[in-house]
Amino acid sequence: MRASPVTATLDLEADGIQHGFLKLPHSHDASAWGAVMIPITVVKRGEGPTALLTGANHGDEYEGPISLFDLAGRLTAAEVTGRVIIVPAMNYPAFRAAKRTSPIDGGNMNRVFPGRPDGGVTEKIADYFQRVLLPMADLVVDIHAGGKTLEFVPFAAAHRLDDTDQQEKAMAAVEAFGAPYSLMLLELDSLGMYDTAAEEMGKIFVSTELGGGGSATALTAGIAKRGVANVLKHAGIFSGAPEHGRSIRLDMPDGDCYVMSETAGLIEYCVELGDTVCAGDVLARIHDVERTGGAPVDYHAKRGGLFIGRHFPGLIALGDPVGVIGVPA
Ligand code: CA
Repeated sequence: MRASPVTATLDLEADGIQHGFLKLPHSHDASAWGAVMIPITVVKRGEGPTALLTGANHGDEYEGPISLFDLAGRLTAAEVTGRVIIVPAMNYPAFRAAKRTSPIDGGNMNRVFPGRPDGGVTEKIADYFQRVLLPMADLVVDIHAGGKTLEFVPFAAAHRLDDTDQQEKAMAAVEAFGAPYSLMLLELDSLGMYDTAAEEMGKIFVSTELGGGGSATALTAGIAKRGVANVLKHAGIFSGAPEHGRSIRLDMPDGDCYVMSETAGLIEYCVELGDTVCAGDVLARIHDVERTGGAPVDYHAKRGGLFIGRHFPGLIALGDPVGVIGVPA
């Protein structure tokens, strides 16, 4: 396979702290010989594991960029044993456009892995992570939130894996992150995900969903900042023990955790995020917006548990998620 067109303007193997870019040539109307310049910080000292930290895999999710631009600005090499690679905004064009997907090629970073060196901009970035950065990492933390269309209770998550040892290590890192909830996440659509790419390489992978709605709060940004430091402590890259309160363990045993819309209209939620619900409870009602006089369509929980995720905008389409249920483990 051809070499990646991405080059790092810093030395990924050098000791000390370096701030630079992942530089991807991009010829376009405003700059014939231009480049996408993705900020990156690498900190390395002594012998130890490598952590790869990313935000804005989806460009409208802000807890990752907030915590990682902050960390990159404050970190010193003396605090690190091993290596920390920080890319605060992985899909940088999407981040700058405040969009989930890239404004250049429409690419959804979390659906294009393993990427292609000769594909679109998003695929080229994914390919660089797949073939250069992920192989260097022992531990990968990818900070997501709900973006403009979803909202979640703040959780860190691992996935059920064929390798139970890898799964247990991932869940231990998730619990070290110390979000209010620690979830064994069942994905709707895992094909092409960065998570899957990292897990297939045997990496310890921590994902999160910290709030949503296309903005961060003081609470969710704080959870991200503390969580990243906690995971680095857990890995021995930072000294000291993780600091956090109790994290509630949740599971998603099967697809009944998802309630999806088969109606378009105006959504009226009947429960709040974090509420405990029983099977059969009405989560939301969708009102017809085209005419008056009809009854709303009720959407019921298919199982009991905690209401952990919902659609964010006031209007909903067919196929959108109405709600997500997590089951206390
Ligand atoms: Ca996301």
